[in-house]
Amino acid sequence: MAQIIDGKAISAQIKDELKEKVANIKKDGITLCLAVIQVGNDPASSVYVGNKKKACEYIGIESLAYELEENTTQEELLDLIHELNKRQDVNGILVQLPLPKHIDEDMIIRAIDPSKDVDGFHPQSVGALCIGQKGFISCTPAGIIQLLKRSGIEIAGKECVIIGRSNIVGKPMALLLLRENGTVTVAHSKTENLKEVTKRADILVVAVGRPKMITREYVKEGAVVIDVGIHRNENNKLCGDVDYDDVAPICSAITPVPGGVGPMTIAMLMNNCVESAHLNS
Ligand code: NAD
Repeated sequence: MAQIIDGKAISAQIKDELKEKVANIKKDGITLCLAVIQVGNDPASSVYVGNKKKACEYIGIESLAYELEENTTQEELLDLIHELNKRQDVNGILVQLPLPKHIDEDMIIRAIDPSKDVDGFHPQSVGALCIGQKGFISCTPAGIIQLLKRSGIEIAGKECVIIGRSNIVGKPMALLLLRENGTVTVAHSKTENLKEVTKRADILVVAVGRPKMITREYVKEGAVVIDVGIHRNENNKLCGDVDYDDVAPICSAITPVPGGVGPMTIAMLMNNCVESAHLNS
């Protein structure tokens, strides 16, 4: 029977470690503050923002919430970011994505001071990851590395296949697995013979954005399967990109949805906030 990788428990463990770290940092007179900006009131974004606020409270990080109207202009948003970049009492700045269509996301990400870029999306953060220098790392792939390590899963020397090449999941995931000495393949929508490629994987990371697409035909017996996808099915129940019931019996370890990768993203965001205190103090 497959080991079920418990993202909820591992993220709780990380948050407790961070809580202790923050208490120690505070003893040195350093305060931590995360500014979270949301434009418009997309219900999913509001849930994510609320969860980030709760996590900050738990760990002892102050949070500033900016809830801006849907019709906020790009210039107004840029002005706010510039102001937060200058504020010495703000360590981290996060702009909740997606943004309304009239705002250029790329320009907004670039406007954030890289020393406060706790989402790890700024080109400077991505470049640092690429050449193995210190910098903020995108939270979801960083969380997956923690899930693997804390579950005792060896990465070095293993065949790692990622399905998906997005800037926030697939690409940084490839760089992180490479940094851990995995042998990395990135598959995507133009990959030929996808099943043959994914069946090579000792560790298969699925970030394809298609509900239950990955069935056991894509998975080598005994593989570790990490499911990044989050979807609501027709019964309003959460499911991932992996057909869990079909795949779980043949793999050695698997993340469930919910309760796998999802909780790790916030834990790693909190980790980046704590790191930012060192960068800005
Ligand atoms: P995306 O849509 O930006 O990228 C999907 C990738 O899958 C693309 O690179 C594409 O080439 C590839 N792809 C699409 N169809 C394919 C096919 N038929 N065969 C092979 N490859 C194919 O998505 P994303 O932002 O990387 O997110 C992926 C999933 O992960 C989504 O379900 C998203 O909701 C979820 N997600 C979860 C978290 C979390 O915290 N758990 C964080 C980010 C994203």
